[in-house]
Amino acid sequence: MFNIPEKLQCFVPYHPLVGDYKIRLDVNESFIELPPEKIAKAISGVRLNRYPDPYATAAVKAFAGLFGVNPELVTAGNGSDELIAITASSLLQKGDKILCYKPDFSMYAFYSRLYELDVVELQKREDMTVDIDNMIDYINRGGIKCVMFSNPCNPTSLGIEKAEIKRLISGVKALVVLDEAYMDFWNERESLLSEAHNYDNLIVLRTCSKSVALAGIRLGFAVANERITSALKTAKSPFNVNVLSQAIGEVVLSDAEKYKSSIALIKESAARLYSSLKDLNIFEKIYETRTNFVFAKTPESHKIYEYLLSKSIAVRCFDGYLRICAGTEEENKALINALQKNN
Ligand SMILES: *Cc1c(COP(=O)(O)O)cnc(C)c1O
Repeated sequence: MFNIPEKLQCFVPYHPLVGDYKIRLDVNESFIELPPEKIAKAISGVRLNRYPDPYATAAVKAFAGLFGVNPELVTAGNGSDELIAITASSLLQKGDKILCYKPDFSMYAFYSRLYELDVVELQKREDMTVDIDNMIDYINRGGIKCVMFSNPCNPTSLGIEKAEIKRLISGVKALVVLDEAYMDFWNERESLLSEAHNYDNLIVLRTCSKSVALAGIRLGFAVANERITSALKTAKSPFNVNVLSQAIGEVVLSDAEKYKSSIALIKESAARLYSSLKDLNIFEKIYETRTNFVFAKTPESHKIYEYLLSKSIAVRCFDGYLRICAGTEEENKALINALQKNN
């Protein structure tokens, strides 16, 4: 009998919620649907019998144009998930110490454990903020090789200012993987995307899954200096981004107007969701949101979660917290109504 390696035998898989729920506010997707005609046109000339462009050149160019970065320093991935996995598997080695925070995006520790890195997890402070001086000190004294975190943070919805992030990167030799999946919803001035080339220990990640409304095509980007970019391209699977995703990504990322107006709509929805949830007065605390979701503290999280599911509304549940994504006006209303009735 073939033995499954021990590391997998005790591995906790990531179980995304499956099922037919009417309202999905659990995975931070965009509620904006792209016009089907536009997508049909984008893929109409695509040749499925041919391998994709290994570097997704056209999609990368559109991404680089939209965010004002040098396309030479961009690596496209099959979702930013793949870029996290490549970093863990290939820019680090078995046994290397990687620092992750709790709570933060679970994929950092997931891939790190899968690739046998030594995951050091630090609990965030009671108010969910992170002490940068403490982080620098911890990394330097603890022999940490890499730190991965999201900014703004999933799930806390809080942001760390750029000056602080720069202090961290300059203060450590460790590789800093800065996941800016939600930066579009906060402020591009807090982003390090266009400064990534100035550092020899920084990877900035972006994804099309949230603000660009393309979670289904799996497209993400890493921006780093030449040396790190070259390493990422060396380690990635040669044809990692499929032809359809490349074609759709190119067209959608080339439309700056639509991108900006979508973000304005999502931010508006998130702001309204935030104040409606506050007005309900059923949560112990609601965190200020820099993202397209709201993070709320409640000892009843599991009870409320199950109740909402019974109403066909899916949100994300943590011990003591709920994370609720901003949806359409009707979706937000249905959620608030359901919570009001439960009260
Ligand atoms: C949703 C999310 C991503 C997106 O991952 P993809 O693989 O690109 O869909 C990345 N990082 C964080 C923190 C996220 O919340």
